[in-house]
Amino acid sequence: MSPPPICDRRALVTGGSRGIGAAIALRLARLGHPIILNYRSNDDAAQIVKSEIEALGGEAVLLRFDVADAAATQKAMETALADPRPISVVVNNAGVARDGVFPTVTDEDWELVTRTTLDGFMHVTRPLMMPMIRKRFGRVVNISSVSGVLGTRGQVNYSAAKAGLIGATKALSKEVARRGVTVNCVAPGLIETEMIAGIHMDHVLPMIPMQRIGQPDEVAAAVAFLVSEDASYITGQVLGVNGGFA
Ligand code: NDP
Repeated sequence: MSPPPICDRRALVTGGSRGIGAAIALRLARLGHPIILNYRSNDDAAQIVKSEIEALGGEAVLLRFDVADAAATQKAMETALADPRPISVVVNNAGVARDGVFPTVTDEDWELVTRTTLDGFMHVTRPLMMPMIRKRFGRVVNISSVSGVLGTRGQVNYSAAKAGLIGATKALSKEVARRGVTVNCVAPGLIETEMIAGIHMDHVLPMIPMQRIGQPDEVAAAVAFLVSEDASYITGQVLGVNGGFA
């Protein structure tokens, strides 16, 4: 069975309204993928990305739901899957950080971070697996972090969640490899988005061999490669986009 043409390979990008997710959605739209743009709360930001995609001649539908909420995600995924064109690409990008040294981490901060990343991956990806397997084509890209690879002080919750996502990626890749579905991680280093607004660059730049932080589109380029036909023999991998940090 040959893969569907790119114009029929719908791509679901979670957390696509801002930052890295918005850059990924725009780049995949430029390549011809119809986009399903998920976000949690910021309607205005999502609408701007949708308009930018349409200005490029692309297609985008907005799908607002909290990936950590099982019932809401199930309902949204049923809506998304009702379209006869397959969802051939999913980019699990939605994520949050609640930093603090470990003794100060609250139960709420632990749960928010781990549930958004890990439960979110599960809620969104599981309903897509059988349709991808039946089509013998699918691309799953999970946005982890250098923190999930190295562990970062003050980010025990975030590092745990992002390392867990790497484990899930490797395990799922082995389950579906024979069915034409690839599952990979992209692990960004420091990328210029609202998420890192409070970080003092003087402290972090010396740790980055390139001596600069990255741009969202530099992460999007790695995702676009993993989604492409050129990456057809790559699965279960973690691709760092970090200026040499790790
Ligand atoms: P931003 O905070 O800029 O954007 C986060 C996006 O995720 C928004 O679109 C937000 O939607 C959405 N989102 C958050 N929680 C949920 C949820 N529960 N359900 C659905 N959508 C949600 O983050 P970045 O662009 O910086 O980060 C994107 C990903 O990259 C994250 O997984 C992050 O952990 C990872 N990453 C980021 C790095 C960085 O330096 N920036 C480094 C390494 C990894 P809304 O605005 O509507 O709430």
